[in-house]
Amino acid sequence: MPDVKTVLAANQEISKNVLGPNADAVDQSRTFPRENIQALGRAGVLGLLVPAQFGGAGGALAELSQAVDTQAQDCSSTAMIMLMHFCATAVIAAQGSDALKEKILPAVARGQHLSTLAFSESGSGGHFYIPVSEVVANGAGKHLSASKSFVTSANEADSYVVSARKAHAASPTESNLYLLPKNTAGLATLGVFQGLGLTANSSAPMKLENVALDDASLLGPEGSGFQTMLGVVLPNFGIGAASVSVGIATAAFQAATTHVTSRKYEHAGGAPLAAIPRVQFLIAEMAIELAAARAYLQEAIRKATTGDPAAMLDILGVKAKCAEAANAVVSRALTLGGGWAFGRRGGLERMFRDAQAAAVMAPSSDVLKEFIGKACLGLPLF
Ligand SMILES: Cc1cc2nc3c(=O)[nH]c(=O)nc-3n(C[C@H](O)[C@H](O)[C@H](O)COP(=O)(O)OP(=O)(O)OC[C@H]3O[C@@H](n4cnc5c(N)ncnc54)[C@H](O)[C@@H]3O)c2cc1C
Repeated sequence: MPDVKTVLAANQEISKNVLGPNADAVDQSRTFPRENIQALGRAGVLGLLVPAQFGGAGGALAELSQAVDTQAQDCSSTAMIMLMHFCATAVIAAQGSDALKEKILPAVARGQHLSTLAFSESGSGGHFYIPVSEVVANGAGKHLSASKSFVTSANEADSYVVSARKAHAASPTESNLYLLPKNTAGLATLGVFQGLGLTANSSAPMKLENVALDDASLLGPEGSGFQTMLGVVLPNFGIGAASVSVGIATAAFQAATTHVTSRKYEHAGGAPLAAIPRVQFLIAEMAIELAAARAYLQEAIRKATTGDPAAMLDILGVKAKCAEAANAVVSRALTLGGGWAFGRRGGLERMFRDAQAAAVMAPSSDVLKEFIGKACLGLPLF
């Protein structure tokens, strides 16, 4: 069983040597980065959050953050695939029955099982914690019909953590989560979502038609889905999405500093762009933005891992802040990269597209700010 330090070291090495070299090709061809996922799987990275008793590395929020931050510096499509997988495995580990955990988690730890979240529905959009689909319970058992609007890794995952209102729900927040294997009868993926960025993550809508549900696939007690989404998914996804944003910003900052140092003008006696005060100013703004985002991220992780009652506000805020920081840093990097960056060299154009996803992925930055504003004003959140 690999320890968490070894797994994170391998994650770093694979990011540099496999994810980075593949990044432009998978982005341009919109191809799922299977080679990347297999390499991460062989090194135990898929099992990063799997408890040691099931063969995993037993990592938690800080390790998730480090892993996807590192991956996003080289290939943010892969980082998002891994983030959704980590969120799904965290739910299985926290809420799966013993039998389900025994069945799934050792395979995850061996790198042989990729999972994801199938929450979003067009009926509630970015308010992913309020599914509109509802389980039907009658003499024929329990069945679910649902339209899931975006699912990362939809065409490639081995299982999906699916949300739905519980049967006869009295309120929209009475929901359940189920783990459904990819070959479930009645479950189909619908093409591939042609995203602006994260083009290699094989994101697609999914349709569930009269899918039979059994108690073995239920994650947690009946009606506990909403609490699991807030208590398990939101911390992992909020911190993870923020970490992906920070990873993208870090890569963009490095690309920009390298470019302005090496791009030289003959007409100015070989002086580099870096000699221009306005360029230095933009580099300073990027460095400050990045440092502030990283500090906020570390503070949010600290609060979340020490049980601080104010943690949730920071988990919400840091996702929005880091998304904005990534946009600010990547935009400036693209400006400083000039025709070189605009011509798709150095990966900055890809990073610019990839950085846009965080603001619209649920909860979107606008929705997060609505929550934070309400919390600051002492108003009810729901
Ligand atoms: C790359 C990518 C990968 C994804 N992967 C997954 C996945 O694996 N699993 C999954 O379940 N989902 C996934 N999603 C879906 C995602 O989480 C959101 O649910 C989805 O992007 C919402 O899209 P929508 O058009 O329905 O948003 P809408 O709900 O229509 O919102 C559109 C915009 O309206 C504004 N808005 C809405 N409500 C409010 C409010 N209360 N206050 C202020 N402004 C508001 C916001 O600006 C928001 O961005 C993914 C999305 C993307 C882009």
